[in-house]
Amino acid sequence: MSTFDLLGGTARWINAHALWPDLPVWAYALLALADTHVTTACVTLYLHRCQTHRSISFSPAVEHVMRFWLWVRTAMPTREWVAVHRCHHAHVDGPDDPHSPIVYGIWRVLFMGTSLYHKAAHNERIVEQYGKGTPDDLLERSLYARLSLLGPVITLVTNGLLFGVWGLAMWLAEMAWIPFFAAGVINGLGHWWGYRNFDTPDESRNLPGKYWSILTCGEALHNNHHHVQNSVRFAVNPGELDPGYWYFRALRAVGLARARQESVAAV
Ligand SMILES: [Zn+2]
Ligand SMILES: [Zn+2]
Repeated sequence: MSTFDLLGGTARWINAHALWPDLPVWAYALLALADTHVTTACVTLYLHRCQTHRSISFSPAVEHVMRFWLWVRTAMPTREWVAVHRCHHAHVDGPDDPHSPIVYGIWRVLFMGTSLYHKAAHNERIVEQYGKGTPDDLLERSLYARLSLLGPVITLVTNGLLFGVWGLAMWLAEMAWIPFFAAGVINGLGHWWGYRNFDTPDESRNLPGKYWSILTCGEALHNNHHHVQNSVRFAVNPGELDPGYWYFRALRAVGLARARQESVAAV
């Protein structure tokens, strides 16, 4: 039996055990896009605005859903993400910034941003100094941080069971999304290309156009964010879109989220 036959047989076996293996291709593409959007929303709302900058908080149920989703879709422990990002703000665009394109060059941050992130995330001094106040409960210690890579394995299995071979292709897109759009586009282009509303003491930029903001749930408005780091809302001018803020407002409207500062709550 050739390798080609073996792969074909495996694909048929996976599809035979899947729930929806015969949807149109556009449906799988749309589902993968929706899936990555949920992941992006969890990154900006939970890891960035809630845990790193403490501008908002969520009900325990919502917080647990987001923690679980980030585990199965990104394998990124909260403490490490928060520590690396706070370190970025503390040393922005200087030699100790973990991922500045001014220091490392745009191409390295854009396409190798994940390796820069991991180098900082595995630096005990950075995690110890900047990771304070993040979840340290039994779930975090025994599962999310200790068995972080199990999360994406669970996604791989569930994708296969739900969508067959197309589910495996969706998995590849879902796993590549945050490394490219967060570690590459925001950390790289967000300090290299675009316009500035504020003369901040760094090279932060807002990526032009609405599509960047929609794809990144508002994170593309990076110069606005560096101007007021603990603001709930990243959009400041008419025409600037911040879907992350819309989702926060929707959750706040049904009592599942709140702003931590009254002045911020008024925006
Ligand atoms: Zn930045
Ligand atoms: Zn930030």
